[in-house]
Amino acid sequence: MQDLQTRDRAYVANTYNRFPIEILTGKGSIVTDTQGKHYIDMGSGIGVTSFGIADPEWISAVNEQLSRVQHMSNLYYTEPCAVLAEELCMRTGMKKVFFSNSGAEANECAIKVARKYAAEKKESDCFYILTLENSFHGRTLTTLAATGQDKFHQLFQPLTPGFLHTPANDFEALKAMTEQYPVAGILLECVQGEGGVIPLEPEFLQKTAALAKEKDILLMVDEVQTGNGRTGSLYAYMQFGIAPDVVSTAKGLGGGLPIGATLLGEKVESVLGFGDHGSTFGGNPIACAGALSILRRIDDALLDEVREKSAYVFSALSGADGVESVSGLGLMIGIKTRKPAADVIRLCMEKGVLCLSAKDKVRLLPALNIPFDTLKQAVSIIRKSCAE
Ligand SMILES: *Cc1c(COP(=O)(O)O)cnc(C)c1O
Repeated sequence: MQDLQTRDRAYVANTYNRFPIEILTGKGSIVTDTQGKHYIDMGSGIGVTSFGIADPEWISAVNEQLSRVQHMSNLYYTEPCAVLAEELCMRTGMKKVFFSNSGAEANECAIKVARKYAAEKKESDCFYILTLENSFHGRTLTTLAATGQDKFHQLFQPLTPGFLHTPANDFEALKAMTEQYPVAGILLECVQGEGGVIPLEPEFLQKTAALAKEKDILLMVDEVQTGNGRTGSLYAYMQFGIAPDVVSTAKGLGGGLPIGATLLGEKVESVLGFGDHGSTFGGNPIACAGALSILRRIDDALLDEVREKSAYVFSALSGADGVESVSGLGLMIGIKTRKPAADVIRLCMEKGVLCLSAKDKVRLLPALNIPFDTLKQAVSIIRKSCAE
């Protein structure tokens, strides 16, 4: 029998340029490969395993539901879906939730909501969705159209029409777009993740929110990566003084199982009616039971801890040898390194730390509950790798 990496390369589509590491098992923020080598996991599956690998509370929530019912169609009621939706609304002030299975789908739903809202309430050509340059909103043809990075667009034309892009933090340019085109919704990330871990300026967000309100344009925040405690608040928008009409989230909400959620505020809570949207797996009871256990643990104490750990990483890495700058919010951190990010990531890997990249940066998205001493160990290895 051929080894795992050969078989994977032979039979799995070539979309992922994997590192030559075969992960076998893990516990919390430590993963172990088939050679028995341990790594500190500073990526948590791209911000998915919010409480680390094989977290016992999450496992028990999932297991309990697993032995009850693993799936029913959305023709019937199941408890985890309703309770999770209620919890999300209680914690955010949003009114209703549509569940799907990924970040892209959560954004697709947001876009459909904006289109239908405008179709019913505004002039017939009001279908434009305005997003920011350097954004990332997913890989489906519609969310690719929303993504403000040309490199993702090439060779997949034509994308879904009706998307506009404007530079981040340039309010006048954004305002001009809304005057030139009939815009149904503005979709943005409070911290651009794939774009290089860059927080938006609060003033830009606040002005944009005020303009959207004034013009009855839906303000839609993509919290797929920034959400669920990642940035030190339950959702990142809560730190920017804005009140979105729609919030999409996924990644860390599920703790490791696929789930997407689109939260609908008062203005749009009834936009979607029977048959307007759907998803076979959306609201899956196991995914929802796991997500509920995650959401309930993202309390003030945990968020304090996230901010404390964040402050530690920022202070330990800012100005360190070989580090040009540190950006981000909470435990969503980008490091601009003197050496190419790929070199730093490779050195870290050799020394037992798994990091991510985002554009030209090293990106860190550790589990929210990573133990402080584990975090310190990882940061010390990252510092060494940047310096050498
Ligand atoms: C990852 C990501 C997505 C896409 O999520 P998928 O689950 O991969 O579809 C969308 N928006 C943002 C901001 C993301 O970080």
